Amino acid sequence: MSLTGYGFYARPNAIMSGQSPPRTAAGAILGSAALFSLTFHRDPAQQIAEIAQGQAMKIAMIGTGYVGLVSGVCFSDFGHDVVCVDKDQAKIGRLQAGEVPIYEPGLEALMARNVAAGRLSFTTDLAAAVDGADAVFIAVGTPTRRGDGHADLTYVMAAAEEIAAALTGYSVVVTKSTVPVGTNRAVKQAIRKAAPALEFDVASNPEFLREGAAIDDFMRPDRVVLGVTSDRAKDVMGEIYRPLFLREFPILYTDLESAEMIKYAANAFLATKITFINEIALLCERVGADVKEVARGMGLDGRIGNKFLHAGPGYGGSCFPKDTQALARMGQDHACPMQITETVIKVNDAIKRRMIDKITDLCGGSVNGKVVAVLGVTFKPNTDDMRDAPSLTIVPALVGGGAKVRLVDPQGAREGAALLPGVHWMDDAYKAAQKADCVVILTEWNEFRGLDLKKLARKMAVPRLADLRNVYSARDARKAGFEAYVSVGR
Ligand code: NAD
Repeated sequence: MSLTGYGFYARPNAIMSGQSPPRTAAGAILGSAALFSLTFHRDPAQQIAEIAQGQAMKIAMIGTGYVGLVSGVCFSDFGHDVVCVDKDQAKIGRLQAGEVPIYEPGLEALMARNVAAGRLSFTTDLAAAVDGADAVFIAVGTPTRRGDGHADLTYVMAAAEEIAAALTGYSVVVTKSTVPVGTNRAVKQAIRKAAPALEFDVASNPEFLREGAAIDDFMRPDRVVLGVTSDRAKDVMGEIYRPLFLREFPILYTDLESAEMIKYAANAFLATKITFINEIALLCERVGADVKEVARGMGLDGRIGNKFLHAGPGYGGSCFPKDTQALARMGQDHACPMQITETVIKVNDAIKRRMIDKITDLCGGSVNGKVVAVLGVTFKPNTDDMRDAPSLTIVPALVGGGAKVRLVDPQGAREGAALLPGVHWMDDAYKAAQKADCVVILTEWNEFRGLDLKKLARKMAVPRLADLRNVYSARDARKAGFEAYVSVGR
């Protein structure tokens, strides 16, 4: 990445002009009385005038996980003053020391640049970060609620209440977390109840970034969705996203409910597309077709498109599993079952389990006592995120079946160590293959895409390859000396 990164760092003069003293990192957290009086108590007219001139906005980001951290860093790169807040003291300590707690390509350099420029800081002090902010983003987790599949809104509502207690002047409280329809209205009510005299708006701004390509997705989005209910909130949100607007990325203003629904509909659609090709892959195996050829032939149709048509071991990750479940639950709650989504959830579970059968069959009907080297455990490459990764279904089944499992992943061991007990972590695919009975490619990290298959096969006790990402072909494997090879849908 070049020093000027995405070109937002050096903002146009028009935007820079008329800028009030920046809220520095120190000012945001410690703030001298003078700085507070200048930056934290601006009247609406002043704010509107600043927006008209293209002012740096003051942003508090509540929740500094994958989405909050990337969004906070990118907003600061737009030129805004951003304070990222998290309850997790250890995480904030690491961030303050310049360390990025997650693996996301390019993030560390972008973060360092904006911290050095005084536009980005980290704190556990929500009240200090929120006071005087033009917008407060809620980017906390919305995991699946235990037992019923609903999105767990505990963290969102707790954050809303903390924000209400801390705000002293107008701000837009923006939900970036993925939340069911109606949540933004509930956030509004909660803030209104806690702070009846407070002037504020709520806005919905669902996030579409993909882990592993998060910065590029944030900086060059297909679209930005903004659910707003007032012109003032629209102006603040418009100003925050001005650099993207100037570069003509589509900004879609809509109502709160539609914004909330867009996120679920988009994720459920993508999960459906993946599951569709995975199911077609099953049939390809039965009838002798090659799913890669089929996907290519389908994807060349402009109405279909070639993305999300790669057959594999089933979708996982921090979003699709929980968001499909939450959408299904929303449908049930409104007596409008989401039958397609409900089926997708079931088929995806079956596909993950089917991978266990594939590996077992490859090993001659049982993995008991077999040495199995699994390459890749994160739910996709270029992330350390293990949430709902297919490995969490497949690896325990192999261990339970009596296999001696060796795992290799460039980034997965830190999270994976606690989640995948009874395995042996190794740092190199060839070492893991030493005297192994089977190698399984589960996540297509680059280093597993370019394996020397001959070398790999030579090291193994019995050269068998389960290529669950269709990286190689049966021909490649045979030529390299593998005596058995399976993939998905071919
Ligand atoms: P995460 O679990 O990585 O991060 C959430 C953070 O919020 C944690 O660090 C937690 O300590 C912090 N937190 C919780 N309550 C807090 C509070 N009251 N004050 C301060 N900090 C608090 O979650 P994530 O993956 O970043 O996801 C956040 C939201 O964004 C979810 O709703 C998710 O569905 C959505 N989303 C995620 C992705 C993705 O790829 N991860 C993409 C798009 C949307």
